[in-house]
Amino acid sequence: MTEGAAVRVRVNRERCCGSGNCVVTAPEIFDQDDEVGLVLLRVAEPPPDVADRVRQAVDLCPAGAISLDEPPPQPEHTGFGGSPVPEG
Ligand code: SF4
Repeated sequence: MTEGAAVRVRVNRERCCGSGNCVVTAPEIFDQDDEVGLVLLRVAEPPPDVADRVRQAVDLCPAGAISLDEPPPQPEHTGFGGSPVPEG
C-alpha cells in the first residue's frame, strides 16, 4: 500500500491541553485518553481523503501539539538541465 508518499501525523502529549478540537475535526485519527483527556494518535498515516481534515486539526490545535510530515512536492519533470552534449 505505498501509493505515493503518505502524510505522517505526530502529536506531542506534553504540549496538549486537552481541548479536543482534533478529535472533533478528525475522530478517526485522534482520540483523547479517559484519564486526563490528552490526545491519543489512532492512525499515524491518515488516508488521503482525511488528510485535509488532519491539516485543519493542526490549524485548530490551540497548543501546537500536532505536526505533519508531508512528503516534499515532486518536481515536475522538465527535462535535463545539464550541459549540452559536446559535439565531437
Ligand atoms: S487539539 Fe491540540 S490541544 Fe486539543 S486535544 Fe488535540 S492535540 Fe490536544
